[in-house]
Amino acid sequence: MTRASRTDSAAGVRPTNTRSPGKGEAVVTRPDLPDIFACCDCATPLSALDFCPACQRRFDRDGDCPVLFPQRARDVSWTITPEMLSPEDIATDTVFRYPSRSGQGKCGAYHLDLAHQDVFAGLPAGSIVLEIGCGGGQMRDWLRSRGLTYVGTDVSTDRVHDWLTAFGGPDVLCDAHALPVRDNSVDAVYAAAVWEHLAFPQMAAREVARVLRPGGYFLGSASFLEPWHDESYYHMTPNGTHTTLRLAGLEILYVWPEVKWPGFVALLEMGNKATRPIRWLGRLMNAYYLFPKQMKLFVKMRTWPDRDRLFETRGKMAGAIAWIARRPQTAAAPEGEKH
Ligand SMILES: [Zn+2]
Repeated sequence: MTRASRTDSAAGVRPTNTRSPGKGEAVVTRPDLPDIFACCDCATPLSALDFCPACQRRFDRDGDCPVLFPQRARDVSWTITPEMLSPEDIATDTVFRYPSRSGQGKCGAYHLDLAHQDVFAGLPAGSIVLEIGCGGGQMRDWLRSRGLTYVGTDVSTDRVHDWLTAFGGPDVLCDAHALPVRDNSVDAVYAAAVWEHLAFPQMAAREVARVLRPGGYFLGSASFLEPWHDESYYHMTPNGTHTTLRLAGLEILYVWPEVKWPGFVALLEMGNKATRPIRWLGRLMNAYYLFPKQMKLFVKMRTWPDRDRLFETRGKMAGAIAWIARRPQTAAAPEGEKH
């Protein structure tokens, strides 16, 4: 998509869809997808994905892919408690920690962290997983092979690497700030390397909380020290991640700096064609950076420090931050935005 259209969609002033189904043209239904969709403008449940019977919106499509972007402006209000303004109130001891395992696994699913993989493995068969920023849809086969129901969304079909188009692409095009999904309807939301691309990340996190069932998981990651890329907006520190999730009313289980993606490497890998071949230098720099802390801890404890002991040291120089959060079982979901 162009710079203008992406920016406009985030601001809710996306150009009007003008295309309507022709006479005798089949309505867009997707029996392969779960029945979770709703109008992104008026929140009315949708049975067909080309028309909202309540607000009379007609939706475009891109091939077989319904295009469900909002046209109306949205009013958003927040209740911000004094505690949210203070870094001292962030539960660093219980929340800033590594899951029992993390890092890129060798399961074949691009970008999938082992910690997120473990959460998926614990979901009952038939659970609905909504992916935001699915790219080519490369998670689809992996999740389906585990008995999970998958819905992949993205803002366009042409923002993916060529090799990812082989995975079938998104099921639905939509905006993370106005998910065309009913309240309390999905068991997990997955968004890897997406949140830095959102114009209003805290608004989108609230959308996630809204569509999750009580107890449902939000699994994600976002840039921290990666370069500004693909028109990214807000790169997130652990504190920023915590506040974004907390403001959405989510229960935060883990926030951690990715171990195998230090900022030194991210800068070179994502810099330009000149810096990419010297990413090994980033690994060297990271080792050089970690070493004094490792030695200090080794001398003190007589054992080589594990990753938890280096949490803060790694966090300062992480390329990306990952998280696992959950919608509380009891608390009410945030209300949808006013239309
Ligand atoms: Zn509607």
